[in-house]
Amino acid sequence: MPPRLYDAHNHLQDERLPGGSAELWDALRRENVALMVVNGAAESDWPEVLALARQHPEVLPSFGYHPWYVRERSAEWETTLQRCLDAVPSAIGEIGLDRWIKGHDLDDQQEVFLKQLRLAAERNLPVSIHCLQAWGKLLECLRNSPRPRCGLVLHSFGGPPEMIPALSELGAYFSLPGYFAHERKSRQRETFLKVRLDRLLIETDAPDQNLPEERVRYPLPTSPDGKPVNHPANLAAVYQFAAELLGISLTELAAQVEVNFLSVFGEVAQRRTQSPL
Ligand SMILES: [Zn+2]
Repeated sequence: MPPRLYDAHNHLQDERLPGGSAELWDALRRENVALMVVNGAAESDWPEVLALARQHPEVLPSFGYHPWYVRERSAEWETTLQRCLDAVPSAIGEIGLDRWIKGHDLDDQQEVFLKQLRLAAERNLPVSIHCLQAWGKLLECLRNSPRPRCGLVLHSFGGPPEMIPALSELGAYFSLPGYFAHERKSRQRETFLKVRLDRLLIETDAPDQNLPEERVRYPLPTSPDGKPVNHPANLAAVYQFAAELLGISLTELAAQVEVNFLSVFGEVAQRRTQSPL
């Protein structure tokens, strides 16, 4: 039996993935994927995340407004978010700050980010954070805001290595995607060598952030825009990449990631097993 695997961040609800297909679930079970955090990114996809959570106990739902989509939010978005969080034990995400995307309005992003962070702190729910080119601002926000005690996930962490200790002190865990196995991502690989093993998480970010082709175990047809589509069962291949990068065995890595994952998401996962799907 392969070790139990935990995907700290994916988007199984994305229309590019056959989220409901039996083949996909067979593959996930074959790879022994125990839990995956399925992140909504806007009001428009929260119902899909909720539906998947109701069908599959392996789905740990997460609801949040991604910085790319905050402009689309309705006047009732906060009420809708609260309603999702009340409907099923869940996390908050994907939320964040992004100065990389064209036409960004960082003040607007920050307002929405802080509201969601405060909600996570009040309910003690894990948050999944996306941050691109806004690390100083993120640190400032995290320092000056209440935070959930269970911790924060910095998904696909590509921030400056010097900030790892300060972010760790604020409760951050650092999540490694398979995308960083691409040769040109050497800076990001170096950064992960500086993350303490007890703060490491692993993610697919499926359908995004595909591994280099030679590492892909579950290929999917490319999307109409020509981009590769990442299968969530490639998680095992991401673990393999991480074990090689860190120079530890897959067994040791999987045991440590399980402890880390459950220290952040364990309480939500526990509540989920106690409440009806
Ligand atoms: Zn994501």
